[in-house]
Amino acid sequence: MTNGQGEFSRRSILGMGAAGIAGAAAPAFAHSGAGHRGHSQRLLVRGGTVLTMDPGVPDMMQGDVLIKNGKIEAVGPHLSAHGAHVIDARGKIVMPGFVDTHRHMWQGLIRNSGPNAQLLDYLNTVLFGFAPAITPDEVYTGNLVTALSAANAGITTMLDWSHIASSPEHSDAAIEGLESAGVRAVYAYGPSFGKQPPWFEDLDNPYPGDIYRLADEYFSSSDQLLTLALAAAGPEFSNVDAAEIEWNVARDVGVPITTHVGVGAPGANGLLAELASRVGLGDDTTYIHACTLSDFEFQLIADSGGKISLAVPVEMQMGHGIPPIQRSLDYGIRPSLSVDVETNQPTDMFTQMRACFALQRGLLNADNLFPEMGHVPQLLTVRDVLEFATIEGARTNGLGSKVGSLTPGKQADFILLNARALNVAPMNDPVGAVVLGMDTSNVESVFVEGRPLKWQGKMVGVNVDRLLDRAEAMRLALYARAGIPLPGV
Ligand SMILES: [Zn+2]
Repeated sequence: MTNGQGEFSRRSILGMGAAGIAGAAAPAFAHSGAGHRGHSQRLLVRGGTVLTMDPGVPDMMQGDVLIKNGKIEAVGPHLSAHGAHVIDARGKIVMPGFVDTHRHMWQGLIRNSGPNAQLLDYLNTVLFGFAPAITPDEVYTGNLVTALSAANAGITTMLDWSHIASSPEHSDAAIEGLESAGVRAVYAYGPSFGKQPPWFEDLDNPYPGDIYRLADEYFSSSDQLLTLALAAAGPEFSNVDAAEIEWNVARDVGVPITTHVGVGAPGANGLLAELASRVGLGDDTTYIHACTLSDFEFQLIADSGGKISLAVPVEMQMGHGIPPIQRSLDYGIRPSLSVDVETNQPTDMFTQMRACFALQRGLLNADNLFPEMGHVPQLLTVRDVLEFATIEGARTNGLGSKVGSLTPGKQADFILLNARALNVAPMNDPVGAVVLGMDTSNVESVFVEGRPLKWQGKMVGVNVDRLLDRAEAMRLALYARAGIPLPGV
């Protein structure tokens, strides 16, 4: 467990408190209570181009969003709200925050460390090199850096696929890192790959048994920003017997399962089908990558209401197989998108959307050059991939009723994107501007439950310099402890 002193020193990295908020002042309305839970002050986001991502709530070239008690109260033109604090959103796009459905967030200290890595290189260096060496404080800082960088890029909800449970203290630290960042996150508790399966026999650190303690200690309320899932190693990364235990434990605790399947050649061995015959697949499970699954396995996923998380650039770069974008759609599954690893990916969803858009169209257009090959499905549109990065992500993370669209009654997790910027102005097609023209530099303000995490280009309540100094020192110590040579130029 984290003692009080450890927690204090961890949290002090952020520079929280009045004296520490250098260069990152909270806006006046945040001080006055609009962003705090339980307060009734209203926030009116006025005059922006509104992309709701809800087919039942019309988009508007110019419209308003009204927030109350951290929830969306109304979306429409010319809303009046007496006494509400007004945010002038003219020249901005107002839309739900992005949702990332799978990222190994503890790796925040080893960003871009494996730029040319194939999957096997990654396993050897990261999961069997860095993972066994990393300390709880470094996991905390890695998670914090990753979560804040995601928020900075407009991602308000993320799933932390946390395969770093080297000890219960490591799991605690990962959760505390997410808490400190103030983001909405699914903490998916996973095994430490630095230890060999079966993990179940380690009495000091029982995996997956420690999930019962974590559920009690951190996830007893359903009304909180963090929710719990099991990041199951699954049949490909351990074996079918071990996976059966994981599925049974997750279902006993009542949490969703997220697992990597269909990864490279081992993904084509029918292991998911074998597992399915034992535990039965359900709508409680997200399948990550799914590149090399059989048609039968894809059908099992579709029939059971399973969800898909794609990490398109990673799958193309690291040898997972062809990202099953069209394949998912052929089985009636709208996929979600995920950053996966920052060891060779940027932290944002713009990259993910563009890679997905370009690959699906590239493959189909290549088929189109040879019409005798038969029926060509629909090309993806920019709106399709924006849905993958928002509402489909929310559904995949089990939060579709709470976030992912600007729908009255949902939580006020939204972003303001600057459309009056040199890279996209003058704006013509708003969805096209977001998906094809924008990047993190356009992410001006970011809200979770109506509370600003980023305001007018700056992270709120975060001493970024202090955080990065700490991360730099920890990076050097981690490389040394892991015995991995520091990369150079
Ligand atoms: Zn992954």
